[in-house]
Amino acid sequence: MSIRIAIIGGGYIGAELAQELEEKAEITLIEQRTHFVHTPAMIRAVVDPSILDDALVPYDKLLQRGRVIQARATKVDEIGVTLENGERVEADYIVVATGSENAMPFKPNSGGIEQLRADNARIHGLLQSTGRVTIVGAGAVGTELAGEIAHFMPEKEITLVSGTPTLFPDMPQKLGASLKAKLEAAGVKVILGSRAENLESLTVPYIGDLSLSNGQTVPAGLVFPAIGSRATSEILAALPGVSKGSANRIKVDSWMRPSALPNVFAAGDVAEMGDAMTIVATSRQIPWLKKSLQALVGGKKVEDLKPYTPWKKAPILVPLGPEKGNSFLSLFTAGDFLTRKIKGEGLFLQKTHKRFGVH
Ligand SMILES: Cc1cc2nc3c(=O)[nH]c(=O)nc-3n(C[C@H](O)[C@H](O)[C@H](O)COP(=O)(O)OP(=O)(O)OC[C@H]3O[C@@H](n4cnc5c(N)ncnc54)[C@H](O)[C@@H]3O)c2cc1C
Repeated sequence: MSIRIAIIGGGYIGAELAQELEEKAEITLIEQRTHFVHTPAMIRAVVDPSILDDALVPYDKLLQRGRVIQARATKVDEIGVTLENGERVEADYIVVATGSENAMPFKPNSGGIEQLRADNARIHGLLQSTGRVTIVGAGAVGTELAGEIAHFMPEKEITLVSGTPTLFPDMPQKLGASLKAKLEAAGVKVILGSRAENLESLTVPYIGDLSLSNGQTVPAGLVFPAIGSRATSEILAALPGVSKGSANRIKVDSWMRPSALPNVFAAGDVAEMGDAMTIVATSRQIPWLKKSLQALVGGKKVEDLKPYTPWKKAPILVPLGPEKGNSFLSLFTAGDFLTRKIKGEGLFLQKTHKRFGVH
């Protein structure tokens, strides 16, 4: 009998891992939604909704041998997964990759894909009808959003507010300084070292004004909260011996195990192991998971496997629309040309479409 692996969540970790392992084991991918959400394109999709359909990719052609069950998993134990409708998926190994949530309309909320489409249309409408846009939070999402709006809607008055004294303070200084200069050259007002004091929602854009901790007030306009992701960790939190890290993530050991259950693994945004919540992180975690699960299928024990080590200096690519931007590519900081060629022009859509058999 072949070894059964259940993967919960068909995001960047789950979808690729299922595809990589379907020749080696009996794979069941459990995903609650009808479509994969290609997040790098979701920022531009707020400004240019014509790319939304490209960013939402159906699961039907992802696997050849494995199966995808469209259902919400509610519980994990040592011998399998319980689904919302009470059905069971028995498994020898379980990978929990339930990811994270972010602000509207960048990722779906509990309303799923159709709600995401409606939210995208509504917020695009608000963006079109307002002259002023304020983005709270200058991580990659907030900074890219400012750049996308400045590129496609140069007539807008855009303010980007960050609590940190520089942009991307954990990266080489050149990255944040160059992005700030490019945003300012495009007319974006960048306010650093200041916090929004009257943010009405952490997840839903709204029309309102903003009071800042430096005493400034930004007059009424469309406010985008862009303050980061929060892990979807309820399933893991119920397991014995788990401990929580930051942003609702669950800590895992060096073999990506979150709990006292030896055959349950967790990876991606839901798991805290020293990597940031990025696709870049999943690109390092997936090869480890693939190799390790293959070894387990072949009869090895978890403790015989080489432990996972997180990125030391993970790369980051920050386009400001399809033409400009800056990147840190682990060894050096790159400018407009490489950022555009690697990410800004195509937003990795082709790669995702290829994986999902969409042409
Ligand atoms: C707007 C935006 C842009 C981004 N751009 C980039 C970028 O350019 N580069 C980069 O490196 N990172 C980027 N990121 C971060 C990146 O999206 C995440 O790191 C990545 O999605 C994590 O992948 P994951 O597989 O862990 O989880 P997710 O992609 O969140 O996938 C989790 C999946 O699990 C499913 N799920 C959850 N709970 C259940 C359940 N109980 N039962 C069944 N299914 C369930 C969800 O429906 C979802 O499909 C971006 C994030 C955002 C919000």
